[in-house]
Amino acid sequence: MTKKKTHYGKCRICGQNKELSYEHIPPRVALNKSTRFVSVPHEEWTKIEDFIGYTPKGQILQGGIGYYSLCRECNSFLGQNYVRAYERWIESGVQVMTNFNVDYFKYIALKQEPLRILKQILSMFIGMNDDWYSQAYPDLIAFVRDPKSNYLPERYRVFAYLNNEGQYRYIKHCVVSTPTLGIINLSELTFPPFGYVLTFDFNHNIHSFANITYFKNYKLGEVIDIDISIFKLPTILPFSPLDYRTKDKINMDINASR
Ligand SMILES: [Zn+2]
Repeated sequence: MTKKKTHYGKCRICGQNKELSYEHIPPRVALNKSTRFVSVPHEEWTKIEDFIGYTPKGQILQGGIGYYSLCRECNSFLGQNYVRAYERWIESGVQVMTNFNVDYFKYIALKQEPLRILKQILSMFIGMNDDWYSQAYPDLIAFVRDPKSNYLPERYRVFAYLNNEGQYRYIKHCVVSTPTLGIINLSELTFPPFGYVLTFDFNHNIHSFANITYFKNYKLGEVIDIDISIFKLPTILPFSPLDYRTKDKINMDINASR
């Protein structure tokens, strides 16, 4: 593992050129402490014809998925302000999926801090995207940097779904053309028990997602029980945003196209 090497670069949150520390995305406590994962170059994925039968030959890394994208100070700022609330949110997702094996859930997540949860989710999108992202979307950064702020412009929406089947998704900012909703600018992050989609200038809802953007309206420190209606979606293909087809459906589609 290359963790001991020194990494310099622009911190995605404070914007300073500094030594960057290894930022776990999601945080270690959110089940990302000892993830073994396979790092496969994107070009290799694009050459694969049979995704489902494919065994990655990439390097196996241990110690949790993350990026050298934040300085030590910003890393611990997130740890101090948002991670505990996020951990509680994660526990709620794990709990419902452990107890029930269905595809659609309605449940109440007890004693949650929505504002901190949303800021943690956005900080993960910031951390996994390249540094142009922070410059292009300064209001996202401002929202994360100020724990009290409720100001997140309308152009940003955050959607969630439950997930416990398929691959992790760390899809950087991209443009997706969909048959029903048109063209969407988005970034997607999936790590069980949740997947998230952050959209830009997209003014609709997506049927199978829970829109959690309203978490921004709660006060800092406000603790509430959140009513959630949410689908559980599989993410079989790691680099295919908004694709929640089951393995069987993907195989059928592949066969149909032959
Ligand atoms: Zn920083």
